[in-house]
Amino acid sequence: MTKTLNGRAARESADVVILGAGPAGLVLGILLQATGVDCVILERSSRARVESRARAGFLVPNTVRILERHGLAEGLKSRGQLHGSCEFRTEELRFRLDYKNLGNGGQHTVYPQQNLVTDLVAHFLGAGGRIRWETEALGVLDAEGERPYVTTREEDGRPGRWDGRFVAGCDGRWGAARRSLPAGAVRHHHDHGVSWLGLLAEAPPSLDAVGYALHGRGFAGHMARGPQITRYYLQCPRGMRPDAWSEERIWAELALRMGAERHGPLTEGPILERGTVDLECDVVEPLRHGSLLLAGDAASLTAPAAAKGANLAVLEAELLAGALTEVLTRGDSGALDRYSAQCLAHIWRAQEFTAWMTRLLHATPDGPFHGSLRRARLESLRTSRSHQDWFAENYVGV
Ligand code: FAD
Repeated sequence: MTKTLNGRAARESADVVILGAGPAGLVLGILLQATGVDCVILERSSRARVESRARAGFLVPNTVRILERHGLAEGLKSRGQLHGSCEFRTEELRFRLDYKNLGNGGQHTVYPQQNLVTDLVAHFLGAGGRIRWETEALGVLDAEGERPYVTTREEDGRPGRWDGRFVAGCDGRWGAARRSLPAGAVRHHHDHGVSWLGLLAEAPPSLDAVGYALHGRGFAGHMARGPQITRYYLQCPRGMRPDAWSEERIWAELALRMGAERHGPLTEGPILERGTVDLECDVVEPLRHGSLLLAGDAASLTAPAAAKGANLAVLEAELLAGALTEVLTRGDSGALDRYSAQCLAHIWRAQEFTAWMTRLLHATPDGPFHGSLRRARLESLRTSRSHQDWFAENYVGV
């Protein structure tokens, strides 16, 4: 329903107003739409921007199962690649863990996040879903009550307002949902004190495994994104500008840290994208504040070291869709009451493993004691089957 306020501000409504068309908001919208719940997605960026933003790529088996269950896995099944090995390198040794044969035997499906988002947008719009592109949520008001509303800046720059029975904050770490949390909300924040230069190279992968290099000059990472595209990460000084290092410097640094001279050369190519990311994490508790629900990065941010963020986003979106459908179609609020605690159990497990991975992979200024702990941790991972099983279960789990 659209009304005009004073000839200026548009006033519209939906039972569930979803903020953000990332993996969390799109999966939530699709599942609500499928059960007949009236919803809308408000997205700050353009469709082209959302469908081209390169971020995650490693999907765990549970994410693939959720997407399959709802008929959303066609693209990743036909174009994704299975990955079941990772290789650790130091200046002294290298070893491989075939994690597909360890723990519960899970593998990653490598499918770039922008491809997944493109598939989800097409599915949602194809099923008649509503997305308002270039519509920025400014704030969520009356969230503690039963008639929350969202104030917006509409595509044409006019102020707008969306009324709903529920607002789903899927608009990431810097979105309006987080800015609108009541004073009682707790935000646990931790800065790992490490930064990465993230690179997308137009170059075939250099090894048939995820590569983690632990070097005195800092961490280097290698992750396939497709047959012709590879993601590389280089630990870099905090505050460094993404363009501070030339392509020559980047490839030299990667080759040095990954031990290319001993273990084989890297396949080089033009750097398509680069950006820096500070490895920080946080968790908002609880995830429900009256009629405002959080999911995905808006609920918790995980440092990208263990590739959990998009996977948590999909898991939470499915749980939230089920809970909202029950309350809106049957008046049963039991699942919604459990939503926050249920998600937080997964979130803290993911945070714990991410913190473990982050400490393992990075040289920090903590001195030789931390360096010796890292070596001991890596040696245990190299030699202990039970430690390897634990790693594999957490690596491909959420
Ligand atoms: P987002 O994808 O951030 O989507 C939020 C949306 O909300 C955006 O489209 C944004 O434009 C929109 N928005 C923001 N503010 C507003 C507003 N005020 N109004 C309206 N719309 C708004 N995760 C993995 O699982 N595996 C990986 O391999 C992995 N690799 C990563 C690598 C990097 C370099 C980075 C940075 C992240 C990585 N992640 C990975 C994390 C993953 O990308 C995120 O966790 C995931 O995108 C979260 O999805 P989301 O839907 O919650 O949020």
